[in-house]
Amino acid sequence: MPEICVTIGRTRHKMVVAEHKALAERGATLVELRLDWISRTPDLTRLLANRPTPVVVTCRRPDDGGRWHSGDADRMTLLRQAIVSGVEYVDLEDDIAGQVRRFGKTRRIVSHHDFNQTPDNLEEIHANLCKLDPDIVKLVTMANSPRDNVRMLQLVKNATVPTIGFCMGDYGVVSRILCGKFGSPFTYATFSRDRVLAPGQLSFEDMKDIYRFEKIGPETPVFGVLGDPIGHSLSPLLHNRAFRHEKLKACYVPMRVPAEEFEESLKDYEFLETRGYSVTIPHKEAALKFADLADEASQEIGAANTLFKDAKGKWRATNTDYNAALESILLGLEAKGIGSLSGQRVLMLGAGGVARAIGCAVMKSGGVLTVTNRTKARGKALADQLGCTYVTWENRGSSDCDVLVNCTPMGMSPNFDETPFQQHWLRDGMVVFDTVYNPENTLLIKEAREHGCHVVSGLEMFVRQAAAQFKRFSGREAPLDFMRDTLRRSISPVRLKHSEPEDSEE
Ligand code: NAP
Repeated sequence: MPEICVTIGRTRHKMVVAEHKALAERGATLVELRLDWISRTPDLTRLLANRPTPVVVTCRRPDDGGRWHSGDADRMTLLRQAIVSGVEYVDLEDDIAGQVRRFGKTRRIVSHHDFNQTPDNLEEIHANLCKLDPDIVKLVTMANSPRDNVRMLQLVKNATVPTIGFCMGDYGVVSRILCGKFGSPFTYATFSRDRVLAPGQLSFEDMKDIYRFEKIGPETPVFGVLGDPIGHSLSPLLHNRAFRHEKLKACYVPMRVPAEEFEESLKDYEFLETRGYSVTIPHKEAALKFADLADEASQEIGAANTLFKDAKGKWRATNTDYNAALESILLGLEAKGIGSLSGQRVLMLGAGGVARAIGCAVMKSGGVLTVTNRTKARGKALADQLGCTYVTWENRGSSDCDVLVNCTPMGMSPNFDETPFQQHWLRDGMVVFDTVYNPENTLLIKEAREHGCHVVSGLEMFVRQAAAQFKRFSGREAPLDFMRDTLRRSISPVRLKHSEPEDSEE
């Protein structure tokens, strides 16, 4: 079973020992002690006595992403001392591995790091590391494209010596999480989200509890969210928690993919045996083009937010935003005792991707739609395309409506004080649906509630589009209430984060 090795990089011995103890209490089974981080001469006796878990002892020079400035001779002496002390693993970079002999039971991790690229001669570098008497080879490189992950994971899979192999950076997150599926004995994680020591590292908690790294095996089905950027997506949390709740083996991974490499990246990611993707900005149109088969909703909108493989291995596209938005609006109408959108006057703020999906759904359901948008040309074009009315942004307050839908990012974190619609324009009994879901209670939602409107937040839509994806991915009904609670709990800390004090190094 693959393990998570948690890296501790602190400047004081006291803090290393304290973090090690805390990690063991949190369930860590392997810890990397980064001696190069310690500001005084490292005292191995102090660090290793009564250690609560096995350790990897590492001392990196700046060339390899470390902080060791006391020269190679002292570095080798320290690592030899660690070996004599009987540490479980020692990490030896390829520049010195040939000069530090095997001794006792300490297992040798012979490593190579490249912080700039995933070089073309990856196999050659690996072959050279294999000549340096390793128990385990470790190869960590910077991913500059999704393909670098695949090259690295192919190498891990084909290696005859156990090989820890993954990529750094935003693109590399895929291989950090999935390396265990292809045979990597461990991946690396940090003590906490604030303590990242290398680009793209995830925290121990995320790796263990969200991605369930230790449970990933060759048969684990892979899903992912495609976007650029993708770092702040809540979809991995939501889907992985839902899989776990339903006791399904699966791993859902954030996948940064640049627009110009969309198609080739998806072809490369066939190697991961990915069975489904959520798709977000800027790939929704490209996803529709990529699919072998597309349903009516995605064709009508001209964009897909979901790709999934059918039993015949064909990629199918759908757009779950369409129904999720419709259901959200209907929730608001039901609160007024109205069962359908037919004949309801809907004012939609915004003319971007989400507005297009919601506009199609409203028109199809017999709603009487008016579009307004900050940029007139874009708003007018959408209204013409949908066959509905356009009103200028400046006049949006004078347009009578039963349902108001915000499809702009106004009010989204961190712009908590923004609203796209002034309070005095709101009418008692109006349905107000804000697609913004972070925060859940936007200023628009708060003011509408005060005004006696029937409000629906973007959280409802977000959770429903994810639940519909879950069903496509797993073939099972999604645990909707559980997913809603999960999302709600994960959104609140996002706002708190801004007021948390920075964790200072002693
Ligand atoms: P998009 O394609 O970039 O469109 C953004 C729209 O908002 C455009 O019409 C833009 O007007 C307008 N806009 C942006 N900033 C504005 C401002 N300061 N004042 C007035 N109008 C402004 O984005 P999208 O994909 O449609 O997403 C829009 C929002 O929907 C997101 O921000 C997100 O909060 C929400 N969303 C919700 C869900 C959900 O499931 N609940 C899912 C996806 C997105 P211009 O044409 O003038 O630029």
